[in-house]
Order: sequence, then structure tokens, then C-alpha cells
Amino acid sequence: MSDNVVFEQEVRIAFENYLHTFFVERDYKKTVRLFHPQICGFGTAGDETAFSYEDSLSLSARDIAQCPDPIVYELAFAKVIELTDHVGVVMAGMNIAGSISDVPFRVDHLRTTAIFVKMGRRWLIQHLHLSQEQTNLSKGEAYPLKELANKTQLLEQMVSERTQELTKALKKIEMIAITDNLTGIYNRRKFDEVLAYEIQRTKRFGEPMSIILGDIDRFKKVNDRHGHLVGDEVLKIISRLFQNNLRQVDVLARWGGEEFIVLLPGTAGAEAVTTAEKLRQLVKKSQNEYQVFLTMSFGVAEYLSGDSVDTLLKKADLALYRAKGKGRNRVEME
Ligand code: GH3
Ligand code: MG
Ligand code: MG
Repeated sequence: MSDNVVFEQEVRIAFENYLHTFFVERDYKKTVRLFHPQICGFGTAGDETAFSYEDSLSLSARDIAQCPDPIVYELAFAKVIELTDHVGVVMAGMNIAGSISDVPFRVDHLRTTAIFVKMGRRWLIQHLHLSQEQTNLSKGEAYPLKELANKTQLLEQMVSERTQELTKALKKIEMIAITDNLTGIYNRRKFDEVLAYEIQRTKRFGEPMSIILGDIDRFKKVNDRHGHLVGDEVLKIISRLFQNNLRQVDVLARWGGEEFIVLLPGTAGAEAVTTAEKLRQLVKKSQNEYQVFLTMSFGVAEYLSGDSVDTLLKKADLALYRAKGKGRNRVEME
């Protein structure tokens, strides 16, 4: 046998002797007899750092005390490296399994580096390092690249979901801001906005535009006779009736209590009167499920050059006032 092979065999035997004594026999006294006076090293636990022989003894004692039963080891590999003719390094990989108070445990992918120094004829352990493979690292990774990529993806997904939720919430808030919460049609705020926009368009393109202001006749009596809740239902019924009988381009809103307003783009006054008349007759004919007989009065106003939002609304209001004055259930135009 060459010196090389003898060296390797001796160190390997010393290493396996240590594993058997420490893990299988769990023999503290025999184990520490294998230690070099300057032994030091690391174990896998956070506080398992030994800088001296004493440290090493106490760590070994603690290890055996915590698990006195035999631990089986299974070597995956063991590589011996010759440093000098009396110093050798072993790099090994192994799995261990045992039980503590009859509860089995297993630790896979343990790695160890052991430095052996020859003292006389015996090989003693001068350094031991035990570590565990990082399971969060994929093959070929020095850093948890895949894990980070997955986390990033997860975060992006969370951000995107949150953004969608916020967008949805924002849309809902926008809806609420422009909707009359009893009838579900536009509220006065939204109507003001649309009216200002349509007046701008009319000024620029010269197309006609009209508005209809409608007010339920003697609505107070409806409430008095049938109660406020029925009054509310009637307001909803009228909203639906108007919504279903106006053009797509017409804009319906609840102007106030029992008043509704309609904007009719591209529509001159005479045509708007016809629409108002149609609405008036629909209301008059509608005997709803509460057997409430209703009529409405309407004031129509056409936008004329020089009109502003205020003057246009004023005209509709005056016309409505006249319709009321002339006995209600009629359409007037200013
Ligand atoms: P007129 O023909 O002169 O318009 O008579 P009116 O009774 O309709 O007019 P008035 O302005 O005196 O009364 C309006 C009534 O509308 C009073 C109010 O209780 C009722 N009202 C306003 N908003 C609501 C509502 O949201 N729900 C109900 N149920 N009633 C409402
Ligand atoms: Mg009224
Ligand atoms: Mg009124």
C-alpha cells in the first residue's frame, strides 16, 4: 500500500470511529478521548460554538444528555484530504435518525468537516464543523433566487389584487357621489355637471337643447294619506317610468324632493314640450300597486344664446310655477 492510501485509511477509520462512539454508542467518556487538546468547532444549533477543549466537552455532554439513545448515521460521502503527513481533513455528508423519549426524529443533509491531527500513533480531532444544507436553496443556487422570485410574484399579485379592490371601491364611491340614493337615478350634483357641459357643447356647435322640470302634484297629500314609505315607493316608480320612456341621450335626475329634471340634448323647445306631454300622460295613466292616483306638472325651457345655467333653470322653474298656477297636471314652456 502506498503512503497515500495508508494515510487515507487511517483518517477515515478515525473519523468513522468518532461517528460510532459519539452517535451510536453515545459514550461521552470515550468520545472526549478522541479530542485533541486544542479542539474547537461549530455544531448546528445557534449557540454551538466551541473555542476550547472545555467548550467542546460541554457541548458533547449536552448533546448526549439531550438524546441518550443511539443515533443511527448514514454516510452519503466522506472525502479525506491530506494536508501534511500528520494533518488530515474529512469532508462528509450524512443523514442521522434516532428517537428522544420514543419520539423518532431524522435530520437529513448534514455536512461535516473534521480536522484530524496525529498525536503519536493516534488521530485526534482538532476541529469539527457540523452544518445543515439550506433547504430553501434550489439546486444550483447560492442565494434563494427562486424563493425571492416567488415572493416577488406573490407581492405583485397582492398589489394587483389590492389595486383592483381599490379601483372597485373608488368606482363605488364615484357612483354614490352622483346617485340619488332613494331612486338610483342621477342626483342634482351630477345633473349640474352634465348641464354645464351640455351648455358648453351647445354654445360651440349651435345645436338646440332643452330641459324639463317636473313636479308631482299635491305630493304632500300622498304622504299624508298613504304614509311616507309609500311616498318613497311612488318616487321610485316615477323614476323608473321616466327612465324607461326617455331616449338614451336624455339625462334624468332627481332635482329635489318630488321634483325631477330632464336634459334633452339636440332638442328644441317644441319637441321638449312633446316629450313633457308624453311624460305627463304616462304619469296620469299610471295607477301603481298602491292605488295612488298621481299627476305631474312640467315646466319646459329651451337654451337660447345668452342663457347661462342659472337663467335656463330659472326659465324652467317659472314655466313650472305657471303650470301649477293654471291648475296643475299640465305642461308650460317659458
Ligand atoms: P304641489 O302640487 O304644489 O307641488 O304640492 P306638493 O304637496 O307636491 O308640494 P309641496 O312642496 O308643498 O310638498 C312636497 C312634498 O313632497 C312634501 C314632502 O313631504 C314630500 N317629499 C319630498 N321629498 C320626499 C321623499 O323623499 N319621500 C317622500 N315620501 N316624500 C317626500
Ligand atoms: Mg309637488
Ligand atoms: Mg315641489
